[in-house]
Amino acid sequence: MGEKFDVIVVGAGVSGLAAAYVMAKEGLNVIVIEKGKYPGSKNVMGGVLYRHMMDEIIPDFWKEAPLERPIIEQNFWLLGKESVAKTGYRGMEWSKPPYNNFTVFRGKFDQWFSKKCIEAGALIVNETVVKECIVESNKVVGVRTDRPDGDLYADVVVLADGVNSLLAKSLGFHKEWRKDQVALAVMEELKLPSDKIEDRFNLDKGMGATIEMFGDGTLGMVGTAFIYTNKEHISIGCGALLSQMIERNVKPYELLEYIKQNPVIKPLIAGSEASEYYAHLIPEGGYNSIPKLVGDGVLVIGDAAQLVNGIHREGSNLGMTSGRFAAETIIQAKKLGKFNEQTLSHYQELLKESYVIDDLKKYKNASKTMEENPQFFNHYIPAVNKVMSEMFTVDGVSKGEKQKLAIKHMAGGKSLLSMGMDGFKIWRAMK
Ligand SMILES: Cc1cc2nc3c(=O)[nH]c(=O)nc-3n(C[C@H](O)[C@H](O)[C@H](O)COP(=O)(O)OP(=O)(O)OC[C@H]3O[C@@H](n4cnc5c(N)ncnc54)[C@H](O)[C@@H]3O)c2cc1C
Repeated sequence: MGEKFDVIVVGAGVSGLAAAYVMAKEGLNVIVIEKGKYPGSKNVMGGVLYRHMMDEIIPDFWKEAPLERPIIEQNFWLLGKESVAKTGYRGMEWSKPPYNNFTVFRGKFDQWFSKKCIEAGALIVNETVVKECIVESNKVVGVRTDRPDGDLYADVVVLADGVNSLLAKSLGFHKEWRKDQVALAVMEELKLPSDKIEDRFNLDKGMGATIEMFGDGTLGMVGTAFIYTNKEHISIGCGALLSQMIERNVKPYELLEYIKQNPVIKPLIAGSEASEYYAHLIPEGGYNSIPKLVGDGVLVIGDAAQLVNGIHREGSNLGMTSGRFAAETIIQAKKLGKFNEQTLSHYQELLKESYVIDDLKKYKNASKTMEENPQFFNHYIPAVNKVMSEMFTVDGVSKGEKQKLAIKHMAGGKSLLSMGMDGFKIWRAMK
């Protein structure tokens, strides 16, 4: 029989590392198995990391973790072909410790996080693929890796293996994700001197900003595009439902190139040099796609559990919180000496009592509503841009006339009732 641990965590992303850290701190014998060369080498994120959830795992982590910039401004753009209608918030309260959110490079951040896990007592094994869970009498008792003599055993296996989660699938916890349950996202890191970044985004030294873009950034498909500032790089990316990308035959890299050519975006990235390119899936199925999360001797966390709030571009935080809840549940189970589904389902209770399930439930119909109503992206966003352009053009047309024109543009040939129905649909999807 292979070596026995208290817990095996599969995947050293932020979810798996969060679980491993909390359990190792409590003295559990934890091994993390990661297929990448090192933690972070395979992980893709825009990436905004949320302080609050990370602080709950390692208090004051921001004093030592490798972070790019604290975010002091968040923008939301309704992007047209040659225009943009903007809204957002700049808060100087976020420029001071303990800050709010940070941009990070996962390659650096996950390596740092994994070192903290090792310091806490966890063992991390890289370049090792978990091929399957070992199941005996319907209970997961370990994992089979691709190493010679690579069977490992544990009281509990935590599946933190990311969006595809082949392991949870092979246990029958979920089926192959449908193409409307995942978004295909691509991003690039563009190198640019820090002073140029600060000039272009109107930032004090070291501070950061984010821009989320809807509309032309995804050619009207359900999804978003984004720009985030790092120390000496700009991250630019976009993602849309895989089903729509296939339907419209849009190649992800072509979409990214298209965004970079938008005259509103071009000056922000002018003179930069592409240093990295990534493509990755994002689980976007939301609440209705959450798979079975718990079985005898096994728990599923993070992206593997579809815990992503696509509306608010939150994923790492839900992943870390789910990792912490899984860890707390296993610590309790260890005290009881019981690792069956019933004992481990405390994890599900913790998720239900938290923002994780609350938020996913709130937006459970949002993605479907937007997919079924393409007018939100391909009619209303260009219409808002047209209305703004006309409103800000002083050309002798009276303001009353402009208001009438605005309603006409927004209605786009449809009745006011049908526009009201659209308003109701979006309200219901977001309420
Ligand atoms: C382009 C893009 C931008 C994003 N931007 C943001 C953002 O700004 N903010 C945010 O909060 N979220 C963002 N997200 C989402 C966020 O990246 C994820 O929610 C988060 O990474 C989930 O962490 P995880 O640990 O669950 O999964 P991952 O980080 O995907 O980690 C899974 C790990 O498991 C390993 N693994 C998989 N299978 C095996 C196996 N069989 N054996 C061993 N190891 C295995 C993988 O190598 C990987 O290291 C973004 C995602 C994308 C794609």
